[in-house]
Amino acid sequence: MKLLDLFCCQGGAGMGYNLAGFDILGIDLHPQPKYPFPFIQADAVQYLHENGHLFDFIHASPPCQGYSNLTPTAHKGNHEKLISIIRDELIKLKKPFCIENVAGAKKELINPIMLCGSMFGLRTQRHRFFECNFKISAPSICNHSELPLLVTTASKASREKRFKLGMQPKTVKNSIQAYGIDWMDFNGLKECIPPAYTKYIGETFIQG
Ligand SMILES: [Zn+2]
Repeated sequence: MKLLDLFCCQGGAGMGYNLAGFDILGIDLHPQPKYPFPFIQADAVQYLHENGHLFDFIHASPPCQGYSNLTPTAHKGNHEKLISIIRDELIKLKKPFCIENVAGAKKELINPIMLCGSMFGLRTQRHRFFECNFKISAPSICNHSELPLLVTTASKASREKRFKLGMQPKTVKNSIQAYGIDWMDFNGLKECIPPAYTKYIGETFIQG
């Protein structure tokens, strides 16, 4: 089965679907030399409109800066809110799809499920929200009894405290263990989806 991976970045989502058994084509507006599958640099909305019918499943991770709670309110208006544009196009295509985003965009998504690293034995608690047009629920509730592996806090004092508890600095090497990703650079790891999340979505879809 062929999967179209829109706004693919460095391929966290794509890898998960590939592990579930899909052939992947990635689309991104920016060059993505770290992307581990066939890739076309293009506008995702336009590519979907012209070629979406050629695929069996479509995944989209529209840029989240416009929705992220980390983006200062004054800047949010500068980002296009692509979720509804993409959904309209996907509904027209009548294909199975998944739209992913951050907690700040939860209200823009229709009945999303939340996935967390703790559901997959990963030492990250990166919460991501997935709107699917097929039946799916999270594999479990999330459980934060184990500390995440990586220290992401800014203040030096709180970082030192977390290092003493066994947490690690946020480096590419440590991210391999936290996210299950070993091919990205630091930039890609910042916003990545751990492949375990989309592997679960792909497998759920295939098992019907
Ligand atoms: Zn969680």
